[in-house]
Amino acid sequence: MCGIVGYIGKEKCISKIISGLESLEYRGYDSAGIAYVKNNTVIIKKEQGRIANLKENINLEEESYMGIGHTRWATHGKPCQINSHPHKVGKVTVVHNGIIENYESLKKELSEYEWVSETDSEVVAALIDKLYREDNDMVKLLSKLKDYLVGSYALGIIIDGDDKLYAIRKDSPLIIGVSENGNFIASDVPAILEYTNLYYLILNDEYAVLSRDDVVIYDKDGNISTKNLLTFEGNREAAMKNGYEHFMLKEIYEQPKVIMDTIKEYISDLDTLKEKMSGLEKYEEIDIVGCGSAYHVGLVGKSLIEKYGHVRVNVDIASEYRYSDHIYKKNHLILVISQSGETADTLAVLRKAKEDGIDTLAIVNVVGSSIAREADRVLYIKAGVEIAVATTKAYSCQLMMLSMIALYLGIINGMLNESIFEEYKKLDKIITDILNDTSDTKSVAEIIYKNKDIFFLGRKLDYALSMEASLKLKEVSYLHSEAYAAGELKHGTISLIETGTPVISLITEDDIRLKTLSNVKEVCARGALSVIITNEEVLDKEVYDKLILIPKLHDLVGSVLVIIKCQLIAYYVAKLNGCDIDKPRNLAKSVTVE
Ligand code: GLU
Repeated sequence: MCGIVGYIGKEKCISKIISGLESLEYRGYDSAGIAYVKNNTVIIKKEQGRIANLKENINLEEESYMGIGHTRWATHGKPCQINSHPHKVGKVTVVHNGIIENYESLKKELSEYEWVSETDSEVVAALIDKLYREDNDMVKLLSKLKDYLVGSYALGIIIDGDDKLYAIRKDSPLIIGVSENGNFIASDVPAILEYTNLYYLILNDEYAVLSRDDVVIYDKDGNISTKNLLTFEGNREAAMKNGYEHFMLKEIYEQPKVIMDTIKEYISDLDTLKEKMSGLEKYEEIDIVGCGSAYHVGLVGKSLIEKYGHVRVNVDIASEYRYSDHIYKKNHLILVISQSGETADTLAVLRKAKEDGIDTLAIVNVVGSSIAREADRVLYIKAGVEIAVATTKAYSCQLMMLSMIALYLGIINGMLNESIFEEYKKLDKIITDILNDTSDTKSVAEIIYKNKDIFFLGRKLDYALSMEASLKLKEVSYLHSEAYAAGELKHGTISLIETGTPVISLITEDDIRLKTLSNVKEVCARGALSVIITNEEVLDKEVYDKLILIPKLHDLVGSVLVIIKCQLIAYYVAKLNGCDIDKPRNLAKSVTVE
């Protein structure tokens, strides 16, 4: 949530900070702001809405060599100009990513200050101002800031009259980029890639002092830290649209490659799979925990792992799981799933699991992220940088990772054998074929995009896939949609079906094919506009208005094809409705607040 960027160096800072913010805009886009130093004075410009609004009101070429910027996803106080960052109190200007949970009590303690905004972040600026006035020592101040603040924060800080840039983090991401001509702070690496791919990863309670040609990082005990300078492996291209109209479309089209990148090192041969997954067979029960699409993919994982691995799997939403009571088996595994590896609720589940002494495994995309670092074991997906707020390629790669866990367990227990590897190996070719002909998904989008309510139906695995299909449509097109277990519809929700209501049914599992088709007949009898996505011809032409046929593969492999069709439908519906596809309203990527 939210992006922060800062720069201090020999070159002008404003265009650098703005372009950095632009590449972080997926993290929040309620408002944007910048503070820069000119002639020893801090100048602040901020605007509600997108960075483009801010850009109209600033001079990118102004003489300034130090500044901080912010693109906001509001948590405390509505999205408006006054609540936008940076916030300046006394001598202190801050940009903040996170939530200060004790801001109300701090406000009372800082009663000498007058509050301009409704944010928790302004209180941080006041607190630092007060502490700074006491002894003018920022390094000492930062070392004790954690004693005052409860919550999460990545802060970029400028002090009036001081030619240094300060940064600190706790539970919100922060990196420090270094280049010959200056140094950066940022929430994520893409923000600095235009200038450098060298960076330091800042960990919880660490802080840093940046000057024009130097960076000093302190560990949580206040000692100067000699960190490894990391090199970002991806390139800036990954954060560009490369000719696609939207990142979402680009990322959908990257799926043949990133899925193969994710699976190839596991399915090259049996020994490799056994080596990479070894030990997972010892668990008697697995709890899969995630948020949003990561939760949905967990439901697909449950279906596959229970079917082939014969291990009981529970799936829960991280924000629920973390506050619920749990009964653990002797050999119990908590498997957390997060694209960013920074999802606040999922991270909290992981930390609680470790406190409780339960083994943890993480499926994560971002290397070195908090969840990746803290889990006992990590299975990385190789989705690459995902910019569109609505996930596509990361979901598919997570699905394939869960599929390979089920595959491994199925091989160990004798349910499966290595002949199925061949199906995995041809997946890129099959997905490429699907992506090369989108006429079916486009024509479905054309007949449903004006409707207000859309239903997805499925049973078992198809029901789990329906939930993600429905979420994708809601997120990007703003159409109301619900996923229903096909057999459950008649227990209430069928009352919402009227003439022309679109019902998209996913039917890929042979053992319940006829059951779901009966449910489709029930909605057709009530006038529904029926779309079926399936892997086998449907002989009864009365039960659909449109049929989307996907190749028939083993369900460990074929599930991903269903979701790719649904991603395309969601994309084209959103496009026909003129929606802001990559940055849907009210959403943000990488949810680092609770
Ligand atoms: N809690 C702060 C606010 O609402 C920061 C939000 C963010 O991370 O964008 O302004």
